[in-house]
Amino acid sequence: MIGSEDYGIHNDMKDVVGLAIFRVLSEDKSACRCPQCQSDMQCLILNRLTPQYRPVDQGNLASKDVRLEDLERDLFNQIMVESYRALHIVKNEPRHHVNRTFLHNSLEEVVLVALHDILRQEKRQLDYASLSKVMAHVLNNLQPRYTTTNKGHVFSRTVEIDPGYLAKIYANIYNALGELQPKASSIS
Ligand SMILES: [Zn+2]
Repeated sequence: MIGSEDYGIHNDMKDVVGLAIFRVLSEDKSACRCPQCQSDMQCLILNRLTPQYRPVDQGNLASKDVRLEDLERDLFNQIMVESYRALHIVKNEPRHHVNRTFLHNSLEEVVLVALHDILRQEKRQLDYASLSKVMAHVLNNLQPRYTTTNKGHVFSRTVEIDPGYLAKIYANIYNALGELQPKASSIS
């Protein structure tokens, strides 16, 4: 089974959203700024934005230096709107007693299971760089499902996924695989 150590990807939106949260919290002194509330806000915002995953090298520092001011106006506005919305939701209903795990895109695990299945059927193996490229490509084409809670094992969740949605995931993976450099052994 492919694991998270076999590839490296980073969603640049995560850094931008972190800055936006810092900004809205600095404007609202009555809001809770604990790590839980901040990661809940991050979840709510990231799930409403188009992700910007990119492959990263092994051992490389994933985050880039970003500034909110450098963003395109529309994107900046969208992120700020979502940040105020998330602040409002989390302020009204802080989840301080929920059992949680680190912030992650739960879709990533589902894509991994599907990718593993496809590679096994095709008797194909991908190196770190190719795997990173495929994962970034696929996740950029699907609405993210960030969460801070654990909702059971990924295999049981894959079964619960709507078949049409699963088909969409598979189609995206085949697309991403097709965009990799052709293998040396391909038919000439
Ligand atoms: Zn809090």
